[in-house]
Amino acid sequence: MSSRPSRRSLLAASALLPLGLCGLTTAAPVAGPYRVGALTVTPLRDGLFPLEPSMMPSADSTAGHALLQGAGLPANGPSPEPVNAFLIRHGDRYVLLDAGCGTVLGPGFNRVTAALAAEGVRPDQVETIWLSHLHADHAGGLLTPSRGARFVNAELVLQEREVAYWSDAGARASAPAALSPMFDTAQAVLAAYPDRIRRISGETELAPGVHALPLPGHTPGHMGVLITDGPEQLLIWGDIVHSRLLQMPHPDWTVIWDTDPAQAIATRRQILDRAATEGLSVTGMHLAARGRIERADAGYALR
Ligand SMILES: [Zn+2]
Repeated sequence: MSSRPSRRSLLAASALLPLGLCGLTTAAPVAGPYRVGALTVTPLRDGLFPLEPSMMPSADSTAGHALLQGAGLPANGPSPEPVNAFLIRHGDRYVLLDAGCGTVLGPGFNRVTAALAAEGVRPDQVETIWLSHLHADHAGGLLTPSRGARFVNAELVLQEREVAYWSDAGARASAPAALSPMFDTAQAVLAAYPDRIRRISGETELAPGVHALPLPGHTPGHMGVLITDGPEQLLIWGDIVHSRLLQMPHPDWTVIWDTDPAQAIATRRQILDRAATEGLSVTGMHLAARGRIERADAGYALR
C-alpha cells in the first residue's frame, strides 16, 4: 500500500496541533493500574491526539468514514486517540515507559508530570526510562521547556537501531523535510542525556520477568515491553496501533509517520496474530484500556 503523505498532512502533523484538541481532553478516562506479579503498571495520560484521516490515508475512504461515523464521530474525523506513558512500580523503584509529549507538540499535552505527582512520584525519583521509540509524543516529555533533562537521575534504555536512525544525517536528509521537527526532538533528547543512554539490541531482558520486544517498522528501533509473571502476561506494544477504531479491523492501514510502512504492516499482523494465539493481554501508548486480541472478520478486535 502506498501511504505517501501529502505535504499538507505532514505539515499538519509536524507543526502541530489544532487548537480544537483542547476540547478533547476530558474524554476517555484512564484505565488501570494493572498488576502483573510484583509489578504495578499505571497508565499516565499525557493528552489526546486528534487523528485526522490525512494522517492515515487509507482511512479517508468509505470504510474509514463508516467506522468513524459508527463511533459517533464526523466521517472526516478527527478521532481522539490517547497518548499514554506508563509508570511501572517494583517495590520502591520507579520505571517510566515513555514520557509523553512534554511541551514539544503544543497545548493539550504535557500531563505526564502531573499524573506522576498524583501517584506520589517526583521526576527525580525515576531511575530508569524505557523508550518504545523516539517520536515526539513518546520522548518529548523527557525535556524541559528549555530542552534540558526533565528526569535528572534517570537512565534511558532504547534500541541501538533507534539511536542510530535519529542520529543519522543521511536518514534525516532522505526523510520528508516536514518531519525535521521529529529529528530535532529526538536529537535534543539524546543531547540532554549524554551519559545516561543504555543501548540494547534485539530481545533483551530489561528487568526480571520484563523483556524488550523489537517491533520494527513504525520506526527502525520501535519496541514493546513484555511483562511476564508465571501465567500472567502484559504486552505494552508501543505504537502497534494509533487507532483501535480504525486499525484493529484494518491492520494494513498505516500512518504517515511510519518509517517503513510495509514493515510496520508485517510487524502489526505478526504481533496481533501472536497476541490472539497466546491470549496475551495488551495495552499501548494509543489505547485507552488493556484487553485481549481476537480475530474478527479480516482483522482483529480488542476485547
Ligand atoms: Zn505515538
